[in-house]
Amino acid sequence: MMKKIVGSFLTSSKMAYKVRTLQTSQKREKLPTILFTMMKPIARITSYVLGRNVRGAWQKLPQDQQRTYIESMKANRGKFLLSGFFSGAGLYYLYESHIQYCPITGRRKFVALTPDQARMIGEANFTQILEEAEGSIVPETDPVYLQISKVANAILHANRDLSQIYEKTWTLTVIDAPDVNAFVLPSGNIFVYTGLLQTCDGYDEVGVVLSHEIAHVVLGHVEEKLTRTSFLQMVLLVPMSLLWVWIPHDGIGFVTTWFFNSVADIMLELPFSRFMELEADDVGLTLAAKACLDVRKAPQFWNKMSSNRDGALQNEALEFLSTHPADKTRQENLESKIENALKIRAECGCEDLTRKAKTNSKRSS
Ligand SMILES: [Zn+2]
Repeated sequence: MMKKIVGSFLTSSKMAYKVRTLQTSQKREKLPTILFTMMKPIARITSYVLGRNVRGAWQKLPQDQQRTYIESMKANRGKFLLSGFFSGAGLYYLYESHIQYCPITGRRKFVALTPDQARMIGEANFTQILEEAEGSIVPETDPVYLQISKVANAILHANRDLSQIYEKTWTLTVIDAPDVNAFVLPSGNIFVYTGLLQTCDGYDEVGVVLSHEIAHVVLGHVEEKLTRTSFLQMVLLVPMSLLWVWIPHDGIGFVTTWFFNSVADIMLELPFSRFMELEADDVGLTLAAKACLDVRKAPQFWNKMSSNRDGALQNEALEFLSTHPADKTRQENLESKIENALKIRAECGCEDLTRKAKTNSKRSS
């Protein structure tokens, strides 16, 4: 098994300015990691097995016994309602006891994963991606690697006041592949595909994309999304099992549960994914501004993405089915925040962008 940490930088333990943060949130009980990573298949299989078995056992019962059961269920309606109420109260307690306030946005967040668990999930992914990309990993001495590492370091260094940045050991891996893609794992492992460089106009643009991806990690979006998905699956377990009890044929059962799951995804998960994208855009813009990057490149990038794709209109029509907001929505959201980002840039003592452009053009002429 390949285990390679590529270009580890900004190691928190070496930082002299590391400060102790006040531990204000109460200690929460730790739920097993598998609950978060495997909840979807676990819930789907459980509801199938449970529902089908109940149905099978029911069908085998003689009619008079079925009638007796129905009578007794009717007589004990109150008890069923009471147990339903207590299950609901238990879920509500589980929800409320895992509420945190995001220190960056101030938003109420439902997170049951501990930072350690998120790191472990990220590290498992890291090893897997490295294994899959073996042979196409750009060496650390390559000029392309060095340039991206310079941008990534600038972002991390400028934002080291955030505990979510200085408490992590960051790594950068550049993969030689045509995908227009970059992402960061919750463990702090940055991945950039060389295809992104072909789409980006200069390293400031790569920087704004990286800032967005780092923002997802800073905001703990993976932890929040996994918690939310697992919780929803837990809540949906009862109606899903009942579906399997009432539907007489497996074929119809599979189609119905597929439909039920798709509707649940569209109604409950997709709007949240899009919300997280816009939040990462906002925070990413601030991270980029503090690193003195040309923040104006952010809306430009999304504008380019929408004109690069065939049928921008179609993209918009499909927004409600996509995990990402339409590029136009993102572009407009970013444009409305550029002025503030430029103010942050100025406050951080960054070089004025018009002057920067002049010196750059002088350098290139
Ligand atoms: Zn994103």
